[in-house]
Order: sequence, then C-alpha cells, then structure tokens
Amino acid sequence: MKTTRRDFLVSGVSAAAGTALAPGKAAASWRKVLPVSRPVAGPVAVASGNGQPAVARALELLNEGSDPLDAVIAGVNIVEADPDDVTVGYGGLPNADGVVQLDSCCMHGPTHRGGGVAALEGFRHPSKVARLVMEETDHVLLVGQGARKFALEYGFEEENLLTDTARQIWLYWRGSQSEIDDYLVPNTEEFTPRAKEIIENNPSLFYPEEPRSAGTINCCAVDANGDLAAVTTTSGLFFKIPGRVGDSPIVGAGLYVDNDVGAAGSTGRGEANLLNLTSFLVVEEMRRGRSPTEACLAGCRRIVENNIEKRLQKPNGDPTFNVSFYAVNKAGEYGSASIYGPGRFAVAGAGGDERHEDRAFLLTR
Ligand code: ASP
Repeated sequence: MKTTRRDFLVSGVSAAAGTALAPGKAAASWRKVLPVSRPVAGPVAVASGNGQPAVARALELLNEGSDPLDAVIAGVNIVEADPDDVTVGYGGLPNADGVVQLDSCCMHGPTHRGGGVAALEGFRHPSKVARLVMEETDHVLLVGQGARKFALEYGFEEENLLTDTARQIWLYWRGSQSEIDDYLVPNTEEFTPRAKEIIENNPSLFYPEEPRSAGTINCCAVDANGDLAAVTTTSGLFFKIPGRVGDSPIVGAGLYVDNDVGAAGSTGRGEANLLNLTSFLVVEEMRRGRSPTEACLAGCRRIVENNIEKRLQKPNGDPTFNVSFYAVNKAGEYGSASIYGPGRFAVAGAGGDERHEDRAFLLTR
C-alpha cells in the first residue's frame, strides 16, 4: 500500500520506537463487527451472467492465495478483452457519437480503499486504470480527458476500441432512430455475423418504446481469510449521451465493500442505482444480518419503491427497466437478485467450479 511522505516519516519513527501499528482499520470502540456465525466457506467469487470466465479465473487466483482485488480484476480483464461481449471494454457498444466510453471502479476490503474512472476512451481495461487511481493517487475518481492522461502516464497503450461489429450496430441504431433525419437504416447483409445476431435478438436496442438494454460485469470475491474485494466495468448504456456516467464507476452504486461485512455490486439501469446507492444498501442489509440473496432483494425492493416517475413505469406501476445485484459476505455465503427474473448469475467456489445459478427476483415481465 502506498503512503504519503508524512506517513512514511511517522511510521519510520514509530517503528524505530517499537510502536508500529498493525496494518488494517484502526480499532474503535464504537465500531460494530458483524459476528461471523460460521467459518469462511473458502474462497468464493460471484459475477453477473457474462462473468463465468471471470469467476473461474478469480477462483483460481484466490486458491493460489492472491489478494481478492488482484483476483477479481484479473477475472474481469478476460471479459474486457473479449470483442464478443458488447457490454464491456474492447468491442463495447459506443455512445450516441459512435465513441466507446468506459466506466469502472474497484474497492479493496482490507484497506477500505477504492478507485474509479468514468467516460474513459481508448483503453480496454478501465478496471486496471481504476485500480491505479486507487493505488497511485489520493483521489477516488478520475473522468474523461483527465483519466485518459493518467492512463497514458502509467504506460497504458491507447487503441481504438470500436470493433466492426459494434460500429455496425451503432450505424444501424443511428439509422433507425428517426424518419426525419438523413440517415437510412443500413442493409445488414454486409454486417458481421455477430452484429446481425445482436440486431436480430435485441429489438430493445433500436426501438424507443422498448426499455433499452445494456450490460456490464461486476465481480465480487471473498478469500479464505474472509477478505473482500469487488470490481465493476462497463461500456455503459448503449448509445448514451456523450459524457454520460452510469453507476458502474461510482463507489456505493456500482459496488461497495466493507471488509467486516461483505461485498456487493450491480448491473442494470445505472440511473436507478445512482439514485439509491444500492450496492451500499445491500452491504448494509448484510450488516443487519440478512443473507446475500435477501440483501440483494432488499436493494431491488428499494429501487422499485423509489421509482415514482410515470415515464419509468409500466401501466401497472412496475419499472420499465431491470437492475441486478451480486453479493458475497465475509462468511463465504453468496447470492444474487434482480427486479425482473428469471435470470442467472455466475459463481465459482463454495463447493464447486464456475457455474451459473438462478437469481432470486421480485417480478416477472
Ligand atoms: N449499469 C450500467 C450503466 O448504467 C449498464 C448495465 O449494467 O446494463 O452504465
């Protein structure tokens, strides 16, 4: 862990005097510590449905004794680099101007530190840049050109993240938005097979009356010692207004970790999550003794209760959008829930290799 020059001098003095403090949070009499009722069930990683390769890698590293943040970041790096996942990193769908802008944040339980980047262009691993913000600066969040400059300074190579597939889907979206502009709907015959597949299977991307889908990866993990970490990384809402920042790079919304309690993270409509800081809420619900699944459901319920704008409601009052949560606690229990189900999330550990399990949910469509 980095220190300031002053910390360095002070710890040098106290070490010399034989009084160096143990690393970790300072003990305070008012601090409530959640009793861990059962032993840690070994390392566990959970992630959104697109995170099976991520939890597999994270578990491998946790079993080798890696720090939980190293494990989850190495896990999501696989998905960030995958051009077929159009919701994250390289190959992510762009904003309304055709530019890929990425959001990410991470949090490390043992040090209670976090870092994030938002609206970052040109780097396929925003989670790695987020981690460097955490480790190399006194800040928590860098955005836009400042985040780009920071990434360049630390040796990240800038590249064009817009794949042919993502560009073609964007052209199709632009052509299908309005009958009074000059763009026609492109002929998909020349498109990549992946672009055609996504266009055919996701009408909600192109028609304003459908709730717009998106995607993200969140990965949360607990190691064999009960230490926790989480990371969330995304290309954000498809065809968003340039500069739009979602929940994914915001500590408390896109994820939250308290090393006494657990870790939680989210995917889905970022605006709803930002207005409730729901990952923080999910961790607080675990602190009150709820299981990870129950805590995730409580987060979903809060979003639905606060969704009072008519434009975001179906005729029966239910939300027009989905949000999902993923959580692990210090004891190695895990869970996931979404507003709308059924759905699946990825998990590895707790008695098995990487797999998908059913999410709990509040409503059916
Ligand atoms: N939460 C992401 C955002 O709002 C999108 C998603 O997870 O679907 O940017």
